[in-house]
Amino acid sequence: MFGKLKQGGEYDVIVCGCGSAGFTAAVQAARAGANTAVVERYGMPGGIMTVGGNNDVAQFHAYHKQVIAGIGWEFIERLSALGYAPIPDMTVDAPHWKYGIRVNIPAAAYMMDTMLTEAGVALYYGQNAVEVTVSGEGESRRVDGIIISTKDGLVRLGAKTVIDCTGDGDICCWAGAQYELGETLQPGTIRFYPDKRLPDDETVAAIDSELKAAHSDGRLDNEYRFPSSLRDIIASEGCNRNHINDFNAADSDSMTAAEIDGRRAIFALMETLGENARIDNIAPTVAPRETRRILCDHYITCDEYVDAVEHEDDICYSFYPIDLHRAGRQSIKQVFLTHGLVPRIPYSALTVKGFENLLVAGRCASGDRLANSAYRVKASCMAMGQAAGAAAALAARGHGGDIRAVDIADIKRLTADNGAIVPGVNDIHLYE
Ligand SMILES: Cc1cc2nc3c(=O)[nH]c(=O)nc-3n(C[C@H](O)[C@H](O)[C@H](O)COP(=O)(O)OP(=O)(O)OC[C@H]3O[C@@H](n4cnc5c(N)ncnc54)[C@H](O)[C@@H]3O)c2cc1C
Repeated sequence: MFGKLKQGGEYDVIVCGCGSAGFTAAVQAARAGANTAVVERYGMPGGIMTVGGNNDVAQFHAYHKQVIAGIGWEFIERLSALGYAPIPDMTVDAPHWKYGIRVNIPAAAYMMDTMLTEAGVALYYGQNAVEVTVSGEGESRRVDGIIISTKDGLVRLGAKTVIDCTGDGDICCWAGAQYELGETLQPGTIRFYPDKRLPDDETVAAIDSELKAAHSDGRLDNEYRFPSSLRDIIASEGCNRNHINDFNAADSDSMTAAEIDGRRAIFALMETLGENARIDNIAPTVAPRETRRILCDHYITCDEYVDAVEHEDDICYSFYPIDLHRAGRQSIKQVFLTHGLVPRIPYSALTVKGFENLLVAGRCASGDRLANSAYRVKASCMAMGQAAGAAAALAARGHGGDIRAVDIADIKRLTADNGAIVPGVNDIHLYE
């Protein structure tokens, strides 16, 4: 099948994808002593936080208390200490999105490089995972190799344990794991970077009236998100300000069409703004909100998320309202959590059904669409990633890669030792 396949390194743990989840997974696994590699298709780590241009990191706090910490929070604190991640006052009452921390993109990527390198992770940047090799049968299958595309052709990396942090669940899908992928998916968004200089008031008024006209006559068909005022466009920094509809980022042809549609939408905005206001740059890709959700031993439902149901194997908290973006002029479907409740993520929502050595973390973890629209936020992805990294390291080093042979208490202890807030270990006593 792979005529020119070359043999690359053998690792205890391979993390595929280096976004919010993959970054913490790789750092945690390496810190636990596992020989760890991370494979990332872009030349920059961070995924949606950096390349995708959505640099708002939510939500480490709930009801004025911290509920997620660990390696993700260490990353934020280190950035903040350097002036690249202003942390809002978490003790005041504010809408949930105001607790997001807007990180500086190049500094965030630099800090991820730094922390991954400090931990001793082998970095395979700019090298897409393109296939897997699987051994075993039935419920005892193992992903024992990841094929990556390099400048030297296709290379196989060997792994005792694999963590799929691709956001799209690519590794699980190719290995034959079960997943869900809706016919209707949430829209994506393309980040744009407006010139922040405001022209004089008269010019601003003229641009605003052109924006309104373009919204109503269809030149700007991104009505739902593109603001109708230049001041709002500039204030938003182009972050989360449009919807690219009807595409599936887990389908390369569909994604190609979305990239073209995204740039068309931004160009239409540029033409509307005219020569007195500029869009200086865009993210290199449309950022998707939703693709595959991989089926694991546990499936998080919306009801259980909203009710913060406890599980025996909870390994971290997650905090965000249900937040389902919809196409066109439809508003976001939001369901807010009952005051005081903090949802939990069980380990079994990360252990991929039918596979002995395959974990998933981040946006493609196991749950229904609505629950996923909440636990996909970056701080939750970071918490899941760290837990998966700890479990993978423990499995690889002590149990021949078997992720179900690991004692949950050991995962909890290891992540807590690395600063994580862990249900039942160094708990937050929210209900006191
Ligand atoms: C427009 C938008 C706005 C959002 N707003 C917020 C917000 O305000 N606050 C918040 O906290 N969250 C927000 N989110 C959600 C959040 O950003 C994502 O759900 C989260 O970043 C997912 O993290 P992840 O690590 O699971 O995936 P990603 O960040 O997508 O990372 C996956 C990584 O895997 C890599 N990859 C994929 N396939 C392969 C492959 N085959 N081989 C190698 N590498 C691969 C990708 O390049 C990427 O680096 C938003 C999302 C979007 C799209």
